Amino acid sequence: MVVIKSPREISLMREACRISANALKLAGTAVEPGVSTLEIDTLIQKYIEKEGAIASFLGYNGFPKSSCISVNNVVIHGIPNKNCILKAGDIVSIDVGAFFEGYHGDNAYTYPCGEISKEAQALLDATRESLYEGIKAAQAGNRVGDIGHAVQSYVEARSYSVVRDFVGHGVGAKLHEEPSVPNYGTPGRGVRLIPGMTIAIEPMINMGTHKVNVLDDEWTTVTADGKLSAHFEHTVVITQDGAKILTVPDDEVSL
Ligand code: MG
Repeated sequence: MVVIKSPREISLMREACRISANALKLAGTAVEPGVSTLEIDTLIQKYIEKEGAIASFLGYNGFPKSSCISVNNVVIHGIPNKNCILKAGDIVSIDVGAFFEGYHGDNAYTYPCGEISKEAQALLDATRESLYEGIKAAQAGNRVGDIGHAVQSYVEARSYSVVRDFVGHGVGAKLHEEPSVPNYGTPGRGVRLIPGMTIAIEPMINMGTHKVNVLDDEWTTVTADGKLSAHFEHTVVITQDGAKILTVPDDEVSL
């Protein structure tokens, strides 16, 4: 069932989303060579706690940490680890959710660590742009397939591929609600978008094959060919005049 939120619920979600976005922004400032992904996760956990919120991912289906941090060929669900030390040239996808006053906010961003290759930068740029193409397509009256088509056509025109095995989703009182929001699709197909729907649009875009494998830890999801992958995500609300991004950080964020 797709949940339509009231204006009051949307204002509560805005707050959860603000905390998520701030945690993500703060995490981004910590991405540099020599830092472990566990250190970044600890920063995220501390910030979310300070705001009186709860990290949405901590304990979700048994996930052991407060954020997912996925480096290079890791697509999503990387588990922060003290032995995963960032080095110059890495691309670092950080996915953070915060639960506050009964609602979740969910967002992700892929940060460059130090100087990265032109090819890696182009992948980040295209993935981030494809998210905004998806958001533009998330008009009331359109359908979920319009979002997927917008993302897919943008990245495939640049010879990248769209991960199929994981998709965006409704978000609200539950971290994952209906509808599913694939990053591929056919215009005019799927669930109709209605004002008050809140969804997480989150393109996961690979440099090579779209195929992915899940490692033995049952979380870490890697590209099947070992090539790079990027991930950007916003939580948005569908309104009469377009989708509005809820995961907007404050100008200044500090712990
Ligand atoms: Mg999500």
